[in-house]
Amino acid sequence: MGRGFSCCVILSGRSARTGGKRRSEIWQCIMPDEMSRPLIRGRGAGGGSRRLEASVSDPGAPVVGILGTGDFSRSLARRLVASGYQVVVGSRTPKRSVALFPEEAEVTSQMEAASQADLVFVAVFPEHHSTLVELKPALAGKTLVDVSNGLKINLDGPSNAEQLADLFPESSVVKGFNTISAWTLQMGPRDGSRQVFLCSDSSKAKSSVTQLCRRMGFIPVDMGLLSSSLEIENIPLYLFPSWRIPVLCTLSLFAFFYLYNFIRDVLQPYITAGKSVFYKMPIETVNVTLPSVALVMFSLVYLPGVCAAFLQLWWGTKYNRFPNWLDGWLTRRKQFGLCSFLCAALHAIYSLCLPMRKSARYKLLNIAFKQVKAGVEDSWVDEEVWRMELYLSAGIMALGLLSLLAVTSLPSVANTVNWREFSFIQSTLGYCALSMATVHTLLYGWNRAFDPAQYRFHLPPTFILVLILPLAVLLGRLALFVPCVAGRLRQIRRGWEKSRHIRFTLPEEGCRNGLEDVSHV
Ligand code: NAP
Repeated sequence: MGRGFSCCVILSGRSARTGGKRRSEIWQCIMPDEMSRPLIRGRGAGGGSRRLEASVSDPGAPVVGILGTGDFSRSLARRLVASGYQVVVGSRTPKRSVALFPEEAEVTSQMEAASQADLVFVAVFPEHHSTLVELKPALAGKTLVDVSNGLKINLDGPSNAEQLADLFPESSVVKGFNTISAWTLQMGPRDGSRQVFLCSDSSKAKSSVTQLCRRMGFIPVDMGLLSSSLEIENIPLYLFPSWRIPVLCTLSLFAFFYLYNFIRDVLQPYITAGKSVFYKMPIETVNVTLPSVALVMFSLVYLPGVCAAFLQLWWGTKYNRFPNWLDGWLTRRKQFGLCSFLCAALHAIYSLCLPMRKSARYKLLNIAFKQVKAGVEDSWVDEEVWRMELYLSAGIMALGLLSLLAVTSLPSVANTVNWREFSFIQSTLGYCALSMATVHTLLYGWNRAFDPAQYRFHLPPTFILVLILPLAVLLGRLALFVPCVAGRLRQIRRGWEKSRHIRFTLPEEGCRNGLEDVSHV
C-alpha cells in the first residue's frame, strides 16, 4: 500500500464518523491539512458496495451527498474524496453504479443519501428534479447545490435553481459548479477553469459551499442572490458573444475583397485575352486579399474612437450616451484588432512562401530568357528597387507593432502595465502601426493609381479601396491634434459641458456677485 493508505482511519459506523459531535460544529472546525488528505484509489477487484466505515476521509469532515451517478457525480465524488470529505451518493439503482465510484464513497439509495448528508449536490438533469420531491422531508433545512445547465440560453427565467428552490422551499438552494466540467473536476483545478460562480438567498448555505469550494482548490466567486442563477446558468452556453461581429466582419470583408481581386486579376485576363491564370486563386489572390482585410479591420479599431471624439465635440459634453452601435463597437475593438493581426500574420507567411512556388520560378526564368533574347544585360531599375525596399520595411514594422498590440491585449500582460502605459501602447503605438500599414499599402500602389491599364473592367485597383478607411481615420486623428480642437476635447473629457459652464463676467453696478450661471443656454 502507498503512503496514503498506511494511515487509514478505520471507523465503525456513522456515530464513530462524527465522533459524537454535531456535524455542523465539525464543519466549522475542519482544517485543510494537505498531508491528511487521502489519495484517490480505484475500487478493488471485487467491486461491491463499501460503506463509509472503510473511508480514509477526514473523520471530522462533513458528509457531502450527491444525487445522481452520472459523469458529473463521479468526477465530483472523486474530487470531494481527494479533498478529505466523506461522500455519500444517492442513486435509483445503487448496485449498478457502485463500481463506478471510489471505494471511499458510499453509494446508496437516494433517500438514505439525502438523510445522511449535510449538504447535497443535485447532479441530476433539471428535467428530472421533480422526481426527487419524495426526498423533501429528508432534505428540509439542508443545503442543496444545483449544478445543472440548460439546453439553450434562457433570458426570461425562471432559472433551474429558482425552480428547484420552489420545489424544495424548506431547503437552501445554492447555484454553482455548473461552469466546471466533469473533466475539470476529475483533473483538478490546475488543469481547467478555477473560478466557481455561486449565488444563493441564504448566506449561511452560500458560505458553507464557498468553504467547500476553496478546500477543493477552486476560487469561489460570490454572484449574490439566487436571482443571479439565470446569468450563471447562461455562462457555459454563450458562444464567443463578443467575437461574433468582428469574425463576421472579417469573413464578409474577405469574401468581398477575394471576389473583387478574382474578377480583376483572374476573370478579366481570361475574358478579355483568353489567358488562364486560375492558378492564382489559392495563393496570389488570397495573399492580396489578406492585407486588404487586415488594414480595413485595423482601421475599424480606431474609427469608433475618432467618431466618439467628434460626437463629444459636437455635443459639447461627455455625459451624453453614445448610440448603442457605437457603444458595442467601442467594446469590441480588441477583437477587431486580433482579427486584423491574424490576417496580417497570414499575409506575412503567404508572402514568404511566394518565391517557393513553381509558377514564380517559371515566371522568373521566362523573364530572364526574354531579356537575353532582347539583348538586355542589366535589368536593374533603381526606382523599383527603392520602392520594394521601403515597401517591405514598412510592412515588417507594421507587423511588429501589431504583434506588440496583440500581446499587450492579453489580460495577463495588460495587468502588468499601468493605465498610461497601456494607453501609450494601444493608442500611440497603435496609430504608428496604422500609419506604417498605410505607408506599406501606398508604396505597394506607388503610381499605379494613375495608370489607366490598372482599371480593369473599370474597377479601381484594390489598394485604392483599402486606403479610404485608414486615410479617413488618420486624417480624423490629425484633426483632433489641432490645438484648439485638442484643448476643447481635453476640457470635455475633464467634465466641462457646453450648456452648463459658469461664465465669469465683470461686476456691474448693483449686479449680483459677478458669476452668471449660463446653464442650459
Ligand atoms: P448523466 O451522466 O446523464 O447523469 C445524470 C444522473 O441523474 C443519472 O446517472 C441518474 O443517476 C440520475 N437521475 C436521477 N433521477 C433521474 C431520472 N428521473 N431520470 C434520469 N436520471 C436520473 O448527467 P451528468 O453529465 O452527470 O450531468 C448531471 C447534471 O450536472 C446535469 O444537470 C448537468 O447539466 C450538470 N453538469 C454536468 C457537467 C458535465 O460535465 N457532465 C458539467 C456541469 C454541469 P441514477 O440512475 O444513479 O439515479
